[in-house]
Amino acid sequence: MRKDNLEVLLFLKEFLGINEILVEKEEVRTVEKELEELKEEVYRCKKCPLHLQKTNYVFGSGNPYAKVMFVGEAPGADEDREGLPFVGRAGKLLTQLLKEIGLDREKDVYIANVLKCRPPGNRDPLPAEIRACSPYLVKQIKIIKPKLLVALGRFAAYFLSGRDKVPLSKLRGKLHESVFGPRLLVTYHPAAILRNPGRMHEIKSDFRMILKILEENGGED
Ligand code: SF4
Repeated sequence: MRKDNLEVLLFLKEFLGINEILVEKEEVRTVEKELEELKEEVYRCKKCPLHLQKTNYVFGSGNPYAKVMFVGEAPGADEDREGLPFVGRAGKLLTQLLKEIGLDREKDVYIANVLKCRPPGNRDPLPAEIRACSPYLVKQIKIIKPKLLVALGRFAAYFLSGRDKVPLSKLRGKLHESVFGPRLLVTYHPAAILRNPGRMHEIKSDFRMILKILEENGGED
């Protein structure tokens, strides 16, 4: 049950009767409750050694009813300190890219990572860490049920597409079937753009594609 549908139901309250409305409200609460319960599970997690060095678990943030869910690779130093995804320089660029296509990162999208704890020194996630942590991301996707997944960078792209032998350059800028249901768009990690600003036009083109996909979807659930 999406929030906009709830608004329609509330508008029709006098025609439907109060009992039905209460049932629908309960359904809406369930999405938030399930996400909250999963977050609590993550906050207790000791499934891999990364929990020993982290400052904060970084579960995810944004609108639990979003049609678009962005997935990065792992928290960096700023995210580890604040317990929120994409709050450093790369996060500011992500916020800006969203703004340019008219999306607000709190209201219109949900953002999470494959790993919920920071790998030391921002090293690449290890296969064992991805195996241990990714079930949390899969559960987040199942609870949020986005229409579109956007993989930011190769670790998210490989995990969500199940195609880890293909270079990122061959996957980016295209729609794929994701292993987990929603369609998948692959683009660069914003940190890669900060390192190589020459690719800015490519990531901007990918973000315009997000908007086009949403418009084609016509806002339907
Ligand atoms: S990275 Fe994931 S699996 Fe490892 S301790 Fe943190 S939450 Fe648990």
